[in-house]
Amino acid sequence: MRVLFVASEVAPVAKVGGLGDVIGSLPKALESLGARVTILVPFYKSFEKVRPRKTGWVLRVPLRGSTAEVEVFESNLPGSKVRILLPRHPLFFRDAIYGEIDDPDRFAFLCAVALKLLQKSKFDLVHCHDWHTGLIPLGLRASRERKESWARIPSLLTVHNVHPGEGIDHLYRHVIPEVGFPNDKIVPTPDAREDSANLLAQGVAYADAINTVSPSYAKEIQTEAFGGVLASLFRKRKNRLFGILNGIDTEFFNPATDRYIRARYTPQTLERKAINNHALETEVGWRQSDGPLFGMVSRITEQKGGDLVAAVGKEMRSRGARVVILGTGDPRHEALVHELQNRFPDTFRVFIKFDAALAQRVYAGSDFFLMPSRFEPCGLGQMIAMRYGTIPIVHKTGGLADTVKEGETGFVFAPFTKHTFGAAIDRALRVYRNPSLWRKMQKTVMAQNFSWDRSARQYFSLYEKLIKEVRAKRRFARAYKEHIISAPNASPA
Ligand code: ADP
Repeated sequence: MRVLFVASEVAPVAKVGGLGDVIGSLPKALESLGARVTILVPFYKSFEKVRPRKTGWVLRVPLRGSTAEVEVFESNLPGSKVRILLPRHPLFFRDAIYGEIDDPDRFAFLCAVALKLLQKSKFDLVHCHDWHTGLIPLGLRASRERKESWARIPSLLTVHNVHPGEGIDHLYRHVIPEVGFPNDKIVPTPDAREDSANLLAQGVAYADAINTVSPSYAKEIQTEAFGGVLASLFRKRKNRLFGILNGIDTEFFNPATDRYIRARYTPQTLERKAINNHALETEVGWRQSDGPLFGMVSRITEQKGGDLVAAVGKEMRSRGARVVILGTGDPRHEALVHELQNRFPDTFRVFIKFDAALAQRVYAGSDFFLMPSRFEPCGLGQMIAMRYGTIPIVHKTGGLADTVKEGETGFVFAPFTKHTFGAAIDRALRVYRNPSLWRKMQKTVMAQNFSWDRSARQYFSLYEKLIKEVRAKRRFARAYKEHIISAPNASPA
């Protein structure tokens, strides 16, 4: 089975968040099940450091009423045979992955590149990720209707997050034909103006199947509160909408081998976790103590609930807790958590930066991991934390609700209020003060299986189902043509 992944991120070279982690790990797990996965991501400047090789391919892709020549380079996912194809073009070859004024145009062009690649190479299925790839299922559908034989392959769209940001996923309608897609197929949404199109909506409408990254989120997005303007579209497609939990790279996130942390440990040597705890305190400029240490590694945005942490700042101090926050986000929320450090310097340390090594030390060095997200499609942080024996405190939503069990593998609060969050922290501290319960909970979370293997099996069966369906349709169409259309008319005597 040959599968083409199309995405805007891939870890470790081009990662902004969880999407990058998924694209960097799921293909490896799929390969071990026998699938052959190729990843298509833009050749950003950051890829130069891995010295991609030339493939010798030049794709001729529609752009602005003309044709752009796109040279394709290749690399591999580290430690694997998974091939990464890197189309090189000035629209992609930049320092930033996101945040460019022409992001919708850049990713629409990525969709055009993907279609060209599908025409050129044989794949059995295309697996699209998030709004950046939303035009691919539309393009495939249109080509299928034109009876182009290369297009008879199914598409799966994984929705990693319905709300990537305000309006960045809208494209001007006039750009759509400029990159080779038909404007008359565009599905309107209430948020799109007459001259614009919501890109994720196109993928949701036309993909052969859609999935989100947890079963709970797949249900939630069918409601307006979570799915917003796309909720009715998700409801319409609910028979083709699945939920498959993400996994984590358990080789990379492994306290027994992690080279970023001071002391490596296993469930049998959990006492060594305290060394990391003290090392983290020293690293952030605190005196070592035996009090509870909370960590948070996250984008700092409305979604992630940093404001809720700010709201319990005073209570955290009065309970003798200390909190290390690592993240970047929007200026308003960054200012909010920064203010916490100014008000309670003995309780909060805030690092506004992206730092993968420090993130590991926070996961390993903390006793608790805070993840009070308003909504969470899956969430990787809580699973990584558990792998390091760090107990998550989470809002009961999406993947957090699916992965953390109250009182067994963490603490879960609902509804989303300062009081319920504070009460969960109090329950957590009561367990922390009971050494045997505490150890038991740490060992339980470390024994959870969040490897990609389980998720990959579910993706693999979904791929098989979709491929079978398309082949069955093709067989039916052939038989219909042979026996009904082309059969001689048995005219009555
Ligand atoms: P999302 O994809 O919504 O940002 P996830 O929890 O699914 O959230 O994934 C976030 C990933 O990015 C985790 O691996 C987390 O450790 C990592 N991460 C987030 N912020 C930072 C940061 N400032 N420095 C290092 N790693 C970070």
